[in-house]
Amino acid sequence: RSRIQMNYKIAVIPGDGIGPDIIKEAQRVLEKIGEVYGHTFEYSELLAGGAALDAEGIPLPQKTIDECKNSDSVLLGAVGGPKWDHLDGKMRPEQALLGLRSGLGLFANLRPAVLFNELKAACPLKDEIIGDDGLDIMCVRELTGGIYFGKRGTDGSKAFDTLEYSEEEVKRIAKQAFEIAMKRDKKVTSVDKANILDTSRLWRKVVEEVAKDYPEVTYEHMYVDNAAMQLVRYPKQFDVILTGNMFGDILSDEASMITGSIGMLPSASLGEGKVGMYEPIHGSAPDIAGQNIANPIATILSTAMMLRYSFSLEKEADAIENAVKSVLAKGYRTKDIVGTGEQSVGTNEMGDLIVQEI
Ligand code: ATP
Ligand code: MG
Repeated sequence: RSRIQMNYKIAVIPGDGIGPDIIKEAQRVLEKIGEVYGHTFEYSELLAGGAALDAEGIPLPQKTIDECKNSDSVLLGAVGGPKWDHLDGKMRPEQALLGLRSGLGLFANLRPAVLFNELKAACPLKDEIIGDDGLDIMCVRELTGGIYFGKRGTDGSKAFDTLEYSEEEVKRIAKQAFEIAMKRDKKVTSVDKANILDTSRLWRKVVEEVAKDYPEVTYEHMYVDNAAMQLVRYPKQFDVILTGNMFGDILSDEASMITGSIGMLPSASLGEGKVGMYEPIHGSAPDIAGQNIANPIATILSTAMMLRYSFSLEKEADAIENAVKSVLAKGYRTKDIVGTGEQSVGTNEMGDLIVQEI
């Protein structure tokens, strides 16, 4: 990607529940970045999930996929809600996410678990474990292979699921993890179960090969059971955690809960091509939709990830992250992260504050 491109086309999928509320604030932040740094962001607003079911009778219209493929990146709010809970199989709103991931070839899921020092009270771990400089871990999870995609079946009183990984699949996700580590603290912990599983032994071998291309990055292997324990025992030892689909599913949820703030955490899904998909880790939170209560920070930080990983706009991404930090440092909180005795602000106000800070 050329650094001189100044016009970016972004597919925007607000989705359901609080999706539209938080996406609106994220777009205002992008607008401000464009103004300050001289970029133009062009949006095409698209339907997916419940919103698409209501309008077109399917969770992921072809037009949405086509437009996403034609864009430089995808910004997604959240999909689903009780209104569509009676639907099953291919008609579920969540099918839109799977369809987008496979349609766009997104094999890497990046989930930072960042604990801002100002929000330490939300962390369930003891103060002495976290210290005074918060926590910053990046989980890099393989997203389109492994046991969730292997041959499966039921045979009378037995059922089976198969776990397969090819060298190529491991290689591309390992490369992503080492590339990301180069932009961070240059440490990769590759998590597997190589004492039991052949796929994990292959995983180790490939990771070691890939590591040779990144001599500046220190790496280690860790068994998944140990990693689950180390995450709550001493999480500061981790920088980038590289792992497969199922282990990553579990460990990234564990890591995010150490921060205690579901409304604060962004995510990115990346592939070989230029299009990435960026979304908050939380769901559509239908209980608080449309009430100007939802925390927009996870989505705003997702746009920072988009600028960093899809557009290589590092200083613009830093500007967003620093603006969020400043607003928190000044004591502003949405309802979900407010402490006792503190005053809370609404979704729009939080968006305003971050925009002003930029
Ligand atoms: P899904 O199945 O889509 O993951 P869920 O109900 O399991 O949905 P969330 O939608 O993530 O999980 O929400 C769980 C609860 O967390 C919500 O009811 C809401 O109160 C709170 N929550 C989630 N996201 C936010 C946010 N951005 N701001 C404030 N509160 C939030
Ligand atoms: Mg959920």
